[in-house]
Amino acid sequence: MIVVKKLIDHDIEAEISCEYAQSLLGEVKSCLFGKDVIIWGGAGTGKFYGELLLSLGITVHCFIDRNADSIDPIFGLPVYTPDILRNKENCTLLIAASRKSFNEIINDIEANNFNPADIFDGCMHFHALQESVRTMRINYSAELADMKPFRQLERGLTIQHLELVVTTLCTLRCKHCAHMNSHYYFIPEGKCKLRHFPVDDLVSTVEKILQSVDVVNELSIVGGEPFLHPDLADIIHKLQKHNKVRRVEIATNGTVCPKQEVVKVLKGEKLYVTVSDYGKISTEISRLSDIFASRDIKYRIQAQGYGWDDLGDHCFRNRSEAELNVTYSSCLDNRYKIILDKKMYDCHRVANASNLGYYSPDDSECIDVLSFTSTELRKKISALYQLDHIPYCNYCNGKGRIVVAAEQYSLTELKCLRAKYGY
Ligand code: SF4
Repeated sequence: MIVVKKLIDHDIEAEISCEYAQSLLGEVKSCLFGKDVIIWGGAGTGKFYGELLLSLGITVHCFIDRNADSIDPIFGLPVYTPDILRNKENCTLLIAASRKSFNEIINDIEANNFNPADIFDGCMHFHALQESVRTMRINYSAELADMKPFRQLERGLTIQHLELVVTTLCTLRCKHCAHMNSHYYFIPEGKCKLRHFPVDDLVSTVEKILQSVDVVNELSIVGGEPFLHPDLADIIHKLQKHNKVRRVEIATNGTVCPKQEVVKVLKGEKLYVTVSDYGKISTEISRLSDIFASRDIKYRIQAQGYGWDDLGDHCFRNRSEAELNVTYSSCLDNRYKIILDKKMYDCHRVANASNLGYYSPDDSECIDVLSFTSTELRKKISALYQLDHIPYCNYCNGKGRIVVAAEQYSLTELKCLRAKYGY
């Protein structure tokens, strides 16, 4: 017997005031924040929830619909048929379809033994939530400065997820790292790109981007392993104070504890730490949990049981234009725009291939942030969201084969790679 939770746990009042609208959206946020949400429903209701959750800074993993084959990606997110749920045990499912489909969906979930961690009913108060968003739009004024959901839903240039690489040093040597980070460890001295990026470069690049866009919904501080950066406290302190940055995530692999000065700056309204749990190799998970819990620092432990997409080797795939478009539109990784060494790229794969010296990116996939005026930069960033594909998709598998997350290279394998890449 499956248990379906209410997204909003009380009756909706007939009259929706602005404050009440805010409290409703607050309830949605408190149910779903920090979870990987899958939305069942790729039509109007599902799209409404997709936009709403993204605007609230909630991670939406994908959409489910029986007619997935005929539905284009929604907000850049893929739409799958229900059987995708077979392998997803830790996800949170939000049912967002018309009320009359609700029972059919529940039957589908039961009949197929799908086993999400939580299932929420998004059909029940759908119209009230729509009304609350509308109310907030009507009532918006400068004094209601913290009506963040409304501001996000305004037309404007929003970067949903922006990754900032602070270091290429890492404690792990993952075979299928989407950032190709292990490659930094087999490039010999002289050509080596292992480095911590200077605070001033990092901050000035982010600030330049902030001058050009309206909102960065989530700025994710990544590596390598960000806790290895000696000036991480300074970086976090300087970046989290910007009004246009809604949330700051620090993404760690669970193998390193932060220094005391970093711990001190991790507590804050906008800040949270995501700790990837790779099982045995994430040796510091319980110490990290203790540190964060005892200091009231927001964090989540993210199990990596789903595996990773194998983006494959850096070799030419010879795809046609149409094939490149399919590769790109089904890829999840291009949701994350990324800053690497003062440049902004369309995805972390092309960023690292370029930084490693494997590839020369063209202007459509890479922006030299500091060399443009804010107006020019805004146009260039907007253009990143209009792409059908990037040329680098011809050197990447895209979505397809799932592999074990964080499988490690042995020393011998690293030596072989060195030979393969001509070092
Ligand atoms: S290169 Fe293309 S397919 Fe590969 S991760 Fe980037 S956007 Fe996706």
